[in-house]
Amino acid sequence: MREGNLEAPTRHPLGWQDAAFYDEGAAFSELERVFDTCHGCRRCVNLCTAFPTLFDLVDASSTLEVDGVAKQDYWKVVDQCYLCDTCYMTKCPYVPPHPWNVDFPHLMLRAKAIKFKKGGASFRDKLLSSTDAMGKLNTIPIVVRLVNAVNKNGLARSLLHQTLGVHKDRELPEYASRKFRSSFQESKSLPVKDGKNSPGKVAVFATCYVKYNEPGMGHDLLAILTHNEIPYVLVEKEACCGMPKLELGDLESVRSLKEKNIPGMAQLAREGYAILTPIPSCTLMFKQELPLMFPDDADVQVVKDAMFDPFEYFVLRAKDGLLKKDFKQKLGKVAYHIPCHSRVQNVGQKTREMLQMIPDTVVTTVERCAGHDGTWGVKKEYFDNSMKIGRPVFRALAAAEPDYVSSDCPIAGRHLMQGMGEEKKQAEKAHPLTLLREAYGI
Ligand code: SF4
Ligand code: SF4
Repeated sequence: MREGNLEAPTRHPLGWQDAAFYDEGAAFSELERVFDTCHGCRRCVNLCTAFPTLFDLVDASSTLEVDGVAKQDYWKVVDQCYLCDTCYMTKCPYVPPHPWNVDFPHLMLRAKAIKFKKGGASFRDKLLSSTDAMGKLNTIPIVVRLVNAVNKNGLARSLLHQTLGVHKDRELPEYASRKFRSSFQESKSLPVKDGKNSPGKVAVFATCYVKYNEPGMGHDLLAILTHNEIPYVLVEKEACCGMPKLELGDLESVRSLKEKNIPGMAQLAREGYAILTPIPSCTLMFKQELPLMFPDDADVQVVKDAMFDPFEYFVLRAKDGLLKKDFKQKLGKVAYHIPCHSRVQNVGQKTREMLQMIPDTVVTTVERCAGHDGTWGVKKEYFDNSMKIGRPVFRALAAAEPDYVSSDCPIAGRHLMQGMGEEKKQAEKAHPLTLLREAYGI
């Protein structure tokens, strides 16, 4: 048998609707098989804390092999995985179509789904993964001030740490006093100019984060579209993309969110819209996770084909000669972090390409997991590991002595600023969409 893959990696459908998916005995056999491959390989030892947890368990066992590890301890490995996909994307030579068929993240997802089905999730985990419900509640006018004040109050945070398990030192995003939809400007009436590679009209899937936490990022995207004479609409009746529920292993909730989102999005896709979401994890949900969960659902596949990362779309627009380059402001030194869920989209470093088109702008790119991952790095038991995983990224960004620190993932962006501490000096945090708008001077 050949060592390692020569073909392009591929991914099998998740198969979560087959009875065997939830068969714990079968899942543990598969875990043992894959753990054994990983133990013999150990390439991923420095990616996250899941692999060191596994290798420490093996090294402490009586046999020094995976068969010496208690099955109950497998959960310790599963809990350390936050499904960033980096091992699959960047290290593993045994991913399909290699016959060893190692898809470590999707095996972890299967284990998380079994755990969820057996015992549900804690109140905290359910709360943190209900981004839409939390957003609606926390942006009610009086509540928003209270929630933002509590999030910054040391005493209240210590209480939340003890009672809810949200780490007291994690800097949390504020909730917006004015939601994205209530401050949204209708698109100007503009002619649709389809390019060879890029549809000439856009539907924006705003995401929970933009709707409730940072509407400014959404407005930046709309301003850039308007400047480039691209008409847009918002996806109606938008619910959460489902990524936080997926990370919890709550696949039935993913299905019900998909049923809310997909019909309207599929209609927009069939009408010829490019669908853009400003958060990489949400884009990935529609580009990869839902298509692998529902491989026979034609609507899901149509949405997948219409889905673009915003910078992927802008670069294609530039390739079509339909993107303006009338930049008025230089950006100086930008330390840019590409999040794992952007890398998994397999479209290259489109944000870097776009920012480098701006004159007098130097982009230093750091391509390594920052370790926050959605809600994982917020939790009491994982916060320290999250900061530890991020340390090489914090150092590399600070070494660029940047004017701006930027990541496509705004949650990672905040984590990076927190981790850089004093080392960030005068650097400001800005999302790439905000930087592009600033460069246009609009
Ligand atoms: S998916 Fe990410 S967190 Fe999970 S094992 Fe792979 S590298 Fe580690
Ligand atoms: S996921 Fe692949 S590359 Fe990583 S340790 Fe396991 S076998 Fe090796």
